[in-house]
Amino acid sequence: SQPMPLLSASGLTKSFGGIKAVDNADLEVAKGSITGLIGPNGAGKTTLFNLLSNFIRPDRGWVIFDGAPVQQLRTYQIALQGMVRTFQVARTLSRLTVLENMMLGAQKQDGENFWRLQFQPWAIAKEQQILREQAMALLESVGLAHMAHEYAGALSGGQRKLLEMARALMTQPKLILLDEPAAGVNPKLIEQICDRILTWNREGMTFLIIEHNMDVIMSLCDRVWVMAEGRNLAHGSPEEMQQHPQVLEAYLGK
Ligand code: ATP
Repeated sequence: SQPMPLLSASGLTKSFGGIKAVDNADLEVAKGSITGLIGPNGAGKTTLFNLLSNFIRPDRGWVIFDGAPVQQLRTYQIALQGMVRTFQVARTLSRLTVLENMMLGAQKQDGENFWRLQFQPWAIAKEQQILREQAMALLESVGLAHMAHEYAGALSGGQRKLLEMARALMTQPKLILLDEPAAGVNPKLIEQICDRILTWNREGMTFLIIEHNMDVIMSLCDRVWVMAEGRNLAHGSPEEMQQHPQVLEAYLGK
């Protein structure tokens, strides 16, 4: 029998005013996979991401992540549960250093740290030291260690995407949602980003990736889900999707 998917969504629907941005959409992400989510502009991909991560609430439908119903969790609880995301335009803090951005990625927002800081300051200091080492190792892995003490604002758009991905890894998540990791990134850096994703995947991380760059999708993904006009159009292997008549029509028909 098939193992339970790490993430599954069913019947997700979300309207903005009169527009059905997402219309009865399903999605499954198998544990250990790199799953792609593609579709023409306005297909509803980012809205679906927002629904999966509970940034916005669906009108209908449900999401289960690692056995837990996502709609009942707060944003920070979802992160603690092991789901993190990046954004189409990287959300790094430009007036903090690269390393400080990384350290923020590890913050637990559950109040626990406040009490520990009052009563166990040495434990916090020790933990900070371990986290700093972890942050530096991750920065090393994305080629940003030499920038650790620069302001994040000094990074290029592509480097900021790498930083955002590395920061997401600080929480040691099970699943990372990447919104267009290659958009606006120069080709050499795209290659580096793809290599990192494949390495992290080999180490056990699961990915769901929105991406318009088909080379990236073809080289990374085990499975691809295609959306158009808010709905599921098809899903299958990248090769199957590349030859799927309805998928081709959705892309070329406009
Ligand atoms: P792209 O590839 O261009 O990023 P997408 O597939 O991510 O597009 P969405 O951004 O999810 O598509 O948008 C789906 C539809 O919902 C579009 O018609 C968009 O204009 C609409 N939409 C999305 N968010 C909102 C909002 N907050 N208010 C109103 N309409 C919205």
